[in-house]
Amino acid sequence: MTSHSWLSSLEPYNLYTSDPVLRRAVEREGAGSADAGLVEFGRRVGSEEVYRWGFEANRFGPELVTHDRFGERIDEVRYHPSYHRMMELSVGAGIHASHYGGTPGDGSYVARTARMHLVSQVEVGHGCPISMTGAVLPALREEPDLAAVWEPRIRTRSYDPRLIDPAAKAGNLLGMGLTEKQGGSDVRANTSVAVPAYGGGPGGEYRLTGHKWFSSAPMCDAFLVLAQAPGGISCFLVPRILPDGTRNPLRLMRLKDKLGNRSNASAELEFTDAAGWLVGEEGRGVNVIIKMVNATRVDVTNWSVSLMRQAVSQAAWHLGQREAFGGLLIDKPLMQNVLADLELETEVGTMMVMRLAGAYERAPIDEHEFVFLRLSSAVAKYWLSKRSSPVVREALECVGGNGYVEESILPRLYREAPLNAIWEGAGNVIALDVVRALQRSPESGQAFIDELSSARGADRVFDRELDRLKRALAGPVDEAAARSLVEQLAVCWGASLCLRHEPTIAGAYVQSRLDGDWGSEFGSLNTSLDLADLARRARPTETHGGE
Ligand SMILES: Cc1cc2nc3c(=O)[nH]c(=O)nc-3n(C[C@H](O)[C@H](O)[C@H](O)COP(=O)(O)OP(=O)(O)OC[C@H]3O[C@@H](n4cnc5c(N)ncnc54)[C@H](O)[C@@H]3O)c2cc1C
Repeated sequence: MTSHSWLSSLEPYNLYTSDPVLRRAVEREGAGSADAGLVEFGRRVGSEEVYRWGFEANRFGPELVTHDRFGERIDEVRYHPSYHRMMELSVGAGIHASHYGGTPGDGSYVARTARMHLVSQVEVGHGCPISMTGAVLPALREEPDLAAVWEPRIRTRSYDPRLIDPAAKAGNLLGMGLTEKQGGSDVRANTSVAVPAYGGGPGGEYRLTGHKWFSSAPMCDAFLVLAQAPGGISCFLVPRILPDGTRNPLRLMRLKDKLGNRSNASAELEFTDAAGWLVGEEGRGVNVIIKMVNATRVDVTNWSVSLMRQAVSQAAWHLGQREAFGGLLIDKPLMQNVLADLELETEVGTMMVMRLAGAYERAPIDEHEFVFLRLSSAVAKYWLSKRSSPVVREALECVGGNGYVEESILPRLYREAPLNAIWEGAGNVIALDVVRALQRSPESGQAFIDELSSARGADRVFDRELDRLKRALAGPVDEAAARSLVEQLAVCWGASLCLRHEPTIAGAYVQSRLDGDWGSEFGSLNTSLDLADLARRARPTETHGGE
């Protein structure tokens, strides 16, 4: 006898038109002219074909091939064709570098961040080299001669996976190597050494010997690497293939066997007298590489929200068709409370990420945006990378047993979520960075408060909490209290965004996150709220608009 569950999958669907909060944020942050392109991109990434690529790229992960059949070292990583399709899609859409080609304020940074948000919901592992490639540019521009050679190769929209002379390729990808065995947060403890080949100096050639314990996307054409030069820790551009066509002695020792992020290869690298070119001055490596790290941090923050959005959309879709105890689960009051709570967290995350993208867009031409970024980028990285795991876990539970099996995307989202709280600065490191920013540049705290204050007067509880936050920022901050302070900054910012831009959800957010009327698990919103209405916002079908 055949039995039916009558369930259908969410995909194909348009990830952009089904997310009106994202769409409004894109418009607000100055990329309204990209709307038509984003509608098309949202449809493309939501197709069954692209979802299939995402599954296959993770199920059939990368393989390290150290030697050829004659015993020669080749140090290559082989990927499933579906991984290459994902890379082609994102490079072709310019997600890797289009945001460094435009004029500040023209919307290109915001539009590109929205594209990254959409594609990462379907497959986020390939986003690592996509993110790193463009992020190299602000650091590499410290050395104009090197930038003049590499930037045009980076900014093409052609994905070329061949391991050949980068100059002969249709497009190049770049990665980074900071973390060593003895530690990643404290990169000043790096022990890899760099010796000048012909006198050294900015742009000059050095020989690097040492190792990197984590170096993702090892098939990249070149890496920015930190090593100890005679003048202290310095940043080097290290290509895999040298200008004469020979291979730089960069050995791939192993690929990491990771909890998630399985489509992305993360390697242990060793250098033995490898050629590298100095970027910036000797001894200023951290100041140079931090420009790359800051750029990738925005993407890590974005991915945290992408995972939430996809998980909550999948959960809401399921609940809208699954029946139990005589009715649809989405109509059950307790499930509405859970879904409403998850949706609140996700919508606030979406607004924060797009606000950050807008600030990055305008920072070169707008002093407030420049100063605002210093604190807000760290606050958002800390908070959203922390919120992602519990949101995804609860969304997975909404789908019940079907959410726990690998045919669903949810296990993959769940395994991915903790990573964003580790790389580009783990939680404590970011929280301490917020404290440092407040101590060294008090104007960043003032810019943050100024921004939040534009919602003053809209809600009594918000005004009270804003005053409390101002008092907290005025005094010295105890290192051990850094996480509490960052949390306070984040939820006040979230409330301010709701009050200004999404007033329908503002009451629920303020009451639960600022006024203490909330439990320790999702689904504990006050029942006087219109939970059915809030829950409905999570359902992609409600907003498909015929797409
Ligand atoms: C999948 C994956 C891919 C990666 N890819 C790359 C890559 O491509 N390139 C690269 O360079 N690195 C990469 N990394 C490394 C990553 O950036 C580091 O793991 C990260 O920076 C943390 O460093 P660590 O692992 O050495 O932890 P540690 O520095 O040992 O930190 C451990 C813990 O201690 C906390 N901590 C540190 N200092 C303090 C303090 N002063 N007070 C309180 N708590 C503190 C941290 O928050 C963290 O929770 C990757 C990591 C992973 C997991």
